[in-house]
Amino acid sequence: MAVEYDVVILGGGTGGYVTAVRAAQLGLKTAIVEKDSLGGTCLHKGCIPTKALLKSASVYQEVKNAHQYGVNVEKTGFDITKAMERKNNIIDSLHNGVSSLIKREKIDVYNGYGRILGPSIFSPMSGSISVEYKGEAENDILVPKNVIIATGSSPRAIPGFEADGDQIITSDHALQLETLPSSIVIVGAGVIGIEWATFFHDVGVQVTLIEAGSQILPSVDKEVAEEMKRLLKRKGIHIYNNATVDPSQVVKNKDEVNLTVQQQEGSITLTAEKILVAVGRNANTKNIGLENTDIKTNDHGFIEVNGFYQTKESHIYAIGDVNGGKQLAHAATYEGSVAVEHLHGKQPVTLSHKDIPTCIYGSPQIAAIGLTEEEASELGYEVQVNKTSFQSIGKAHVNGEVNGFAKIILDKESDDLLGIHMVGEHVTELIGQASMAKYFDGSGLEISEVIYPHPTLSEILGEVALAAEGRKIHG
Ligand code: NAD
Repeated sequence: MAVEYDVVILGGGTGGYVTAVRAAQLGLKTAIVEKDSLGGTCLHKGCIPTKALLKSASVYQEVKNAHQYGVNVEKTGFDITKAMERKNNIIDSLHNGVSSLIKREKIDVYNGYGRILGPSIFSPMSGSISVEYKGEAENDILVPKNVIIATGSSPRAIPGFEADGDQIITSDHALQLETLPSSIVIVGAGVIGIEWATFFHDVGVQVTLIEAGSQILPSVDKEVAEEMKRLLKRKGIHIYNNATVDPSQVVKNKDEVNLTVQQQEGSITLTAEKILVAVGRNANTKNIGLENTDIKTNDHGFIEVNGFYQTKESHIYAIGDVNGGKQLAHAATYEGSVAVEHLHGKQPVTLSHKDIPTCIYGSPQIAAIGLTEEEASELGYEVQVNKTSFQSIGKAHVNGEVNGFAKIILDKESDDLLGIHMVGEHVTELIGQASMAKYFDGSGLEISEVIYPHPTLSEILGEVALAAEGRKIHG
């Protein structure tokens, strides 16, 4: 039987389900097609579980260092089983919340595999969705006025060096570990590589990072990435830049893997119990029926979209990781909201991808919004750049976490805020304020005149803006 909808969303990850809620709020008859569980990568394999494990690792570190705060703890230990259990409970609880939300909004959920059909007996336009189920169940056919593709992404493999789920793993496998390895080599020092390097190191695993580029975290402001590298190395993480793995030189033994790493200076052999590959994520565009449409993908396999996230077929939109923008849950939900308002006939405000904040949950953390210093200079801005260290912030001393800094980039001519970049503990909790300043087109002067409560880490935003205005107090 064919069921008509105003909008069908293919993929019920964070991008998909939040978009569905917005569509329902606008009075649209809405359905989600999801092959696994509502919440997708972010809830089940990404943002939430990794942050839950990172929290366990940071508690372990705090307890180990408790004596510095006058607290005596006799015996410490890290229990991976308990940490995984806690992570799973958090996922379950949030998953229940999402399911209730979707019920409350009266959104239909089809728990099957969705494929886009071309023009057919159901509709003269492409975009009907066939929902396939495991077993004998007959397909459902959905006939929507609009489709939003939100099928997300999956870990990218290095050809010839594919994950086996045991000795060579991806972040998906790492979330299911039952025991901790004694050592791990992480290939790729991007966002996922850094977060897992932090987790494994902080729970006592020997960690080595292999990065092809000359900078870890290639998309991050150079100075911030350098500070991050310095602090990770100081913790004891080994980092090789300009280095790649030779897939033909990987030898798997019973308890360890030997791999050859090629650098400009020659090659070295490393041995570790496990290898984690984190070299980016590919769009999930295979087998969703794109060939039945005029939708175009770019050379990297991401779906091409315009500023309202419409594909070449204007009634079909693509949001989130699948369109190759910023692969972040909050980017996907923002894009979904723009798409659904646009298809409803509104003219949503659209932001540049640079105005979407970035958060990297290592220890320390990185948080940023806007242009990096390098990008601003390349765009021809004459920049005013200032930095303030957490050493000059009282609350950082109280916390015992004084590493890192905040950096502000202003347009020298107009004093407009171009970017704020931070590295240090808890900076991901501060970036919302910088995001607001950017949204309201804040200037250096305005940011310096805001009142920041004392003692809080947020004072670093005021201090760095004061420095830019030539009125710094501390630091
Ligand atoms: P990434 O693009 O951030 O990093 C991949 C890294 O691997 C790059 O530094 C790249 O230079 C390196 N690399 C590529 N091929 C290599 C090779 N053969 N050998 C060595 N190094 C190689 O990708 P990711 O870390 O896999 O993350 C995927 C996406 O998921 C990112 O867009 C990220 O923003 C997103 N994500 C975000 C968060 C967050 O917001 N906190 C957390 C996890 C993932």
